[in-house]
Amino acid sequence: MYHNSDTIVAIATPPGEGAIGIIRLSGTRAIEIVASIFHGKDLTIQPTHTLHFGRIMDAEVAVDEVVVSLYRAPRSYTGEEVAEISCHGSAYILQKVVTLCVGAGARPAQAGEFTMRAFLAGKLDLTQAEAVADLIASNSSSAHKAAMHNLRGGFSHDLAAMREQLIQFAALIELELDFSQEDVEFADRTQFYALIERITAAAQQLAASFSLGNAIKNGVSVAIAGKPNAGKSTLLNALLNEERAIVSDIAGTTRDTIEELLNINGIVFRLIDTAGIRAHTTDAIEQQGIARSRDAMKKADIVIYLFDVAEWLTSDYVRTELLRQTEELQRLGITHLLVGNKVDEAAPGAAEEVQRLTGEEVILLSARDKDNIQGLKDALYTHVAGGKVKHEGTIVTNARHYAALEEMLRSLSDIKNGMDNNLPGDLLAPDIRRCLHYLGEITGTVTTEDMLDHIFSKFCIGK
Ligand code: GDP
Repeated sequence: MYHNSDTIVAIATPPGEGAIGIIRLSGTRAIEIVASIFHGKDLTIQPTHTLHFGRIMDAEVAVDEVVVSLYRAPRSYTGEEVAEISCHGSAYILQKVVTLCVGAGARPAQAGEFTMRAFLAGKLDLTQAEAVADLIASNSSSAHKAAMHNLRGGFSHDLAAMREQLIQFAALIELELDFSQEDVEFADRTQFYALIERITAAAQQLAASFSLGNAIKNGVSVAIAGKPNAGKSTLLNALLNEERAIVSDIAGTTRDTIEELLNINGIVFRLIDTAGIRAHTTDAIEQQGIARSRDAMKKADIVIYLFDVAEWLTSDYVRTELLRQTEELQRLGITHLLVGNKVDEAAPGAAEEVQRLTGEEVILLSARDKDNIQGLKDALYTHVAGGKVKHEGTIVTNARHYAALEEMLRSLSDIKNGMDNNLPGDLLAPDIRRCLHYLGEITGTVTTEDMLDHIFSKFCIGK
C-alpha cells in the first residue's frame, strides 16, 4: 500500500478556517514540485532550513501569498526532502494548493504516511511514532506527560536494555546447539535465570502500569447509581462544581443518562448520571431510563453507589436495598465505591454501622453542602492510580504494547519453567526467540506490513 518513491502531499492543519493553514510535502520531488507552482526565488537551489516568501500560482492567477519552509534530506521529519507551505487558512486555498501540487506530480498522502516514512527512515522507533499520535490526541496533563515520555524514547529505552541482555544469552544458547553432540554449556544457567527473573519483573511492572495508562489515555468511566432521591444529580453538580444536571424533588426525574467530564489530578473521569434504579415502575420512559442505567453500570470502569445515610438509619427497605446492591456489585466483580449522602442529616455512627454490615469502606459526604467531595475525588483517583504505579516511570498507554508484553511474560514463564526442569538449550531456544520477537514487536525491530498499516492508518492525514 505504501510506495516510498512517491512524493506525498497533505494539509497538515485541522479542517475549517484558521489564520494559517499548512500544506506539507515529502519525497524526492517535494521541493521541485513546490518550486513549479511558486512565484519568487528559485526554491530548488535554496539550502535546508530556510524560509521563502512568495506567491502560489495557478498558471497566471495568484492563489495566495505564502511562506515556504524547506528541509533537505536527511535533516527533516521524514528523513526525505520536505517542503511546508504556510498559506492563509481558508479551506478553499488549502484545497486549491493541494490540487496544484497533485497536478505537478505529488500524490495525496494516506493517514500517518509522513510518520510512517519517519519510522522507515529510522528517525523514530515504533513506540515513538505511536507517541506522536498520542501526543496529538492528548487532552489532559497526564496523557501529555506519558506521550512526551514515550516520544523521547523512554519506553524504548527500557526495552532496548532488556533486549540487549537477552540477545547475548540467546546467542550463547544458539551456539550450544552447534555443539549439541558434545554436551557443553556456554551460557551460565544461574546468570541466565537471574536475567530472566529481572526481565520478568520489569515486564510485569510495565504491564501493570497499563490500567493507569489506559485510564490516562482513554479516561475512566464512572457511573453514579442509586435509588431516586439519593442525591445523584446533586452529587454530579457538586463534583463538577456547577449546575448542570436538573435537580428535582420528584423521585425519578433524572430520566436519561448524562455524561460529564471531570479532571482529577490530570486523569479524565467521564461521569455518567444514571436514572434512579427502582425495582417497580410503570412509567415506560422511566423504565427505559432504568434499563439504560443498568447498562451504564455494567459498562462503567467504576460505579459510585450512592445512598441516603439519613434514610438508611431509619428505613429497613433502604438497608435491604443497599445490602442487595452491594452483594450484586461484589458478585459481578464491578469496581465500586459505596457513598453515603446527606451526612448533614444523619446521626453519628452511621458510617461505622454501614461498614460493619456491608464489610466495605464507606465514604460519607453531603452533596448539597459540598462536604467531603474531595474525599470522593481522592478515592476515585486512588482507585485508578492504585498507589502501585509511580508516575515518574514509563506508563504503558498503548493496547498493542500491553498485548505484546503479555505474550512476552508468557514466554518468559515458559523459559523459567524449562530451566526449572533442566531442559537443554535446544528446547529453551524457541521460547527465547519468542520472547525476543514480542520485545521487538513493541519497538518495531520486528514488524509486518499488516502491523504497520494497522498502526499508521489510525493517524490523521497529514501527520
Ligand atoms: P437523584 O434523584 O438521586 O438525582 O437525587 P437529587 O440530586 O435530585 O436529590 C434529591 C433531593 O435530595 C433534592 O431535594 C436534594 O436537594 C436533596 N439532597 C441532595 N443531596 C443532599 C444532601 O447532601 N443533604 C440533604 N439534606 N439533602 C440533599
